[in-house]
Amino acid sequence: MPQIKMYTTDVCPYCDRAKRILEGKGLEFEEINIHGSPEMRDEIERLTGRRDVPQLFIDDQHIGDDDDLAELAHSGQLDEMLQQGGGTQMETAKKNDGDGFEERNVIIIGGGTAGFATGVYTSRAMLEPLLITGDALGGQLSMTLDLENYPGFFGTEAAEFIKGMQKQAERFGTEVRFDMVTEIDFNRHPFYLKTYDKEYLAKSVIICTGASPRTLNVPGEEEYGGRGVSYCATCDGFFFQDQRLIVVGGGDAALEEGIFLTKYASEVYIVHRRDQLRASPIMQERAFKNDKIKFIWSTTVEEIQGDGEKVMGSLLKNVKTGEEEVFPIDGVFIFVGHLPNTELFKGVIDLDEQEYIVVDKLQRTNIEGVFAAGDVHDHIFRQAITAAGAGAAAAISADKFIAELEDRAYPGK
Ligand code: NDP
Repeated sequence: MPQIKMYTTDVCPYCDRAKRILEGKGLEFEEINIHGSPEMRDEIERLTGRRDVPQLFIDDQHIGDDDDLAELAHSGQLDEMLQQGGGTQMETAKKNDGDGFEERNVIIIGGGTAGFATGVYTSRAMLEPLLITGDALGGQLSMTLDLENYPGFFGTEAAEFIKGMQKQAERFGTEVRFDMVTEIDFNRHPFYLKTYDKEYLAKSVIICTGASPRTLNVPGEEEYGGRGVSYCATCDGFFFQDQRLIVVGGGDAALEEGIFLTKYASEVYIVHRRDQLRASPIMQERAFKNDKIKFIWSTTVEEIQGDGEKVMGSLLKNVKTGEEEVFPIDGVFIFVGHLPNTELFKGVIDLDEQEYIVVDKLQRTNIEGVFAAGDVHDHIFRQAITAAGAGAAAAISADKFIAELEDRAYPGK
């Protein structure tokens, strides 16, 4: 059996994603945490040309990062590479289920704060929910460091908090599957859903697909992805010891990640397109107090430049004067907000002009029996606690919907 090796760092949601993919397929792997080992970090860079984690190898063949692994896993190529006779655990389970659809009371799409809160409530309502995680298990919280503003959880690590939510949902009976919904048909009832691995019918669906980091869409951003361009400070900061970095954005994420990067970088320049920050006052105060952080105001990143191998500079433009300059830099970390993950629902579920799902006070979408919760519909508050609250509300609404279908009593009815 070929050996799988994965290089990771201490706090790395993308590494967790890769681990979930391998664990979901029942595959064993060796994890090598490079944090604190400059030799190993330099070795990874020499072998792969990359300055990000995770990096995966099958025997001595470099297969790339978590995105590459997900693509291989979902296309079936991973199984071919590993020459697993009889298929993976997942596929075996699928075969054993026969050819029919799996029928469920409730399917929750998305494994972030809203999804797990929904899982806790629907499982306590004895609905035996299935939660399909999607690729970004943990959602936005997995990208955050410490949780400071969720009442009762002051200073808890965000990653630990989300693991606790999953455990709690599972304890009450939520079944969590690492899979991805690829097709839906909400014009029939029970609703139809297809994933990479299975087909399902569900009486009710709760959409908790969250939002994904927005990219800048400037020349060089894609070319130098993983070679100096990063969207995760905790994962990749270690590659930039004593180097100069740009952080793009003016929200809480940009400041929090910028402050984190000062552990490694010699200087961190926060490049913001306006002359006022969007971040919360407490985060602003911490950033202003940090000697290694400097602000470049009213400025946009027009291009990310390099030598073909790694980032060397960035073309910056002052939006007030129109002046442009090439700013020498070793890395660019981008935190410019998020876009809702609603691609799958376009033309079926009503979306607003920014493509967030429209819900009413009961978390109902335009389709009876389909609910939504969390960052996929909320572009105003976007907090863990509001996502959890919306998840709970969606679960209660789904329970009521199913109770009415089954003509059974419902608390409060
Ligand atoms: P935000 O939407 O709050 O901020 C995004 C920032 O990126 C804004 O400053 C915006 O500029 C800028 N921006 C957007 N598009 C571009 C672009 N194309 N080019 C340049 N700049 C751009 O997103 P965050 O990810 O920072 O935060 C999301 C939510 O999560 C917030 O509610 C936040 O409070 C929360 N959060 C909380 C944390 C904590 O409490 N520890 C940590 C991280 C996030 P402009 O201001 O001009 O619009």
